[in-house]
Amino acid sequence: MEFATFADRAAAIEAEPADLEIVAHVRDLLEDAGDAENGADDRIATVEIVARFVQGRVFPAWDSTTLDIGPSACYEAIARAAGQNVDADDVEERLADVGEIGDVAASYDFGGQRGLDAFAAGDGGSGDDDLTVREVHDELVDLAAAEGEGSEDRKVDILFGLFNRCSSDEARYLARLVLSEMRIGVGEGTVRDAVAAAFEVPEERVERALQVSNDYGEVARVARDEGLEGLDAMELAVGRPVQAMLAQAGTVTDALEEWEEAAVEWKYDGARIQLHHDPDGLESAAGEDDDATTRLFSRNMEDVTGALPEIVEFAEGTLEGPAILDGEVVAVDDAGNPLRFQEVLKRFRRKHDVAKAREDVAVRPVFFDCLHADGDDLLEEPLTARHDRLEGVLRDDPQQDPDDVDGLSLLWLADDPDEIESIDAEALEAGHEGIMLKNPDSAYSPGRRGKNWRKRKPDVETLDCVVTGAEWGEGRRATFLGTFELSVRDEATGDLETVGKVATGITDEKLADLTELLEPHIAAEEGQVVDLEPAVVFEVGYEEIQTSPTYSSGYALRFPRFQAVRDDKSPEDADTLERVERLRS
Ligand code: ATP
Repeated sequence: MEFATFADRAAAIEAEPADLEIVAHVRDLLEDAGDAENGADDRIATVEIVARFVQGRVFPAWDSTTLDIGPSACYEAIARAAGQNVDADDVEERLADVGEIGDVAASYDFGGQRGLDAFAAGDGGSGDDDLTVREVHDELVDLAAAEGEGSEDRKVDILFGLFNRCSSDEARYLARLVLSEMRIGVGEGTVRDAVAAAFEVPEERVERALQVSNDYGEVARVARDEGLEGLDAMELAVGRPVQAMLAQAGTVTDALEEWEEAAVEWKYDGARIQLHHDPDGLESAAGEDDDATTRLFSRNMEDVTGALPEIVEFAEGTLEGPAILDGEVVAVDDAGNPLRFQEVLKRFRRKHDVAKAREDVAVRPVFFDCLHADGDDLLEEPLTARHDRLEGVLRDDPQQDPDDVDGLSLLWLADDPDEIESIDAEALEAGHEGIMLKNPDSAYSPGRRGKNWRKRKPDVETLDCVVTGAEWGEGRRATFLGTFELSVRDEATGDLETVGKVATGITDEKLADLTELLEPHIAAEEGQVVDLEPAVVFEVGYEEIQTSPTYSSGYALRFPRFQAVRDDKSPEDADTLERVERLRS
């Protein structure tokens, strides 16, 4: 297929407002690419290239290879191809005027340079000067592979060679492809529907194939060459990341209403990792260390293996068979307690001085899902079954208590909001972010932000409450006040009435500050419990207000969260019982 044909279609797609018409254009493009295929060699099929190009990709989504070329190198290539009187500054100036690199590239006339295609390597030297989709692809793969001394020049040379053979429209889409700015309105859903239409296979089976392969190029080729049977036979490849399943915000009430019972997990405050392990070696991207048996990917499917050696060591020491695990990497202190999210960032994408960084910040993995274990793809299994498999692969011996299984996120099945609230309080107490609520029967849906995973909704409201009591902590927190009793004023009587307790989820540093602030106001003390004279006001977030016999106000804040000390407010300015009643109604 000529690149000009691709560019024509891309222009038509860009000009088309109707989704269905866009799908029809992409379908035609895939069909044309299919027809053009000679199938005589084992090179990448044109249909694969087209399915990626149309989304602005050169490589499969699972492959984190980039062209690694900056805008200025691209401007230089365009300038050189444009002729003697043009330089990169001129390209930049036009960009400042026009605002979009495709239009800038299209504004030059490259045609006059056609005799100079000596730089167009590979098939370009065949004598036939029409640029093909495959040539563009192969040249860009070479460009991505250029490394080391002189690589920048080599990249510019390759691009120059390509632009030099482009018409205006070709240049427009080449420039956008190179700078990852295709933006013609073709998303994954469009390609899914177009593949289904072009090769007469159901959309949902195309979608499933995409979820496991994470490459629309491969999906298009398999749909064309092997039909539905081929699509259904596609499996996860251990070593190639899949898209992470994501969470929506949601309330406990809604979750229980919908599922009756929720799988509740702690929400760890770290960075997402997907671990791929196979003792017999991984399917990896070309050019990577093929002997690797463990790879780690970020939420965006970037390879972060090198930054986290202890997670690799954990996998090598724990996992006996092939596995794909989904989880979180958390920074921890010497006692294993979680540290703030900022700490894990010091480790996460680090490429240099990893050993030193490892000394400064320790990390540990917590896995909450299992996508593949010992040859079985588990995406369609219910969450609870996947969690059982996870426990199985992480456990040292079959009798081991789940609490003691290293790297395993705990999961509680709960149908009682009070129980969920106490899991949330425990999570905060242990220094985590809160809880996740998951549908126990749900499949793993890569790339989806559906209702089956919910992060407990951020607080809907805040109340300014007077702190009327507290408890001394335990263990390393014995010298800190924690678990603060919250009250609001009943305007009718002038009395303070309790509405709940906030166990915080505050750092030790913060607890120390609060203790210093509150200690002078201790009015009475019995065991660990202290009464405080009303002096300090906390701003507290919550999910819901419920009626409750536990507190003297008759109400309880559900999922209270400490937000801040309102040192600008005195107890007289704090919220009232009347406001609580109003908020509840
Ligand atoms: P967003 O996904 O909305 O862009 P985010 O990346 O900050 O925001 P959240 O949506 O707040 O993430 O929460 C989902 C994230 O929480 C997951 O991507 C994962 O990194 C993390 N997480 C921590 N514990 C769990 C758990 N038990 N189950 C699922 N995800 C968890």
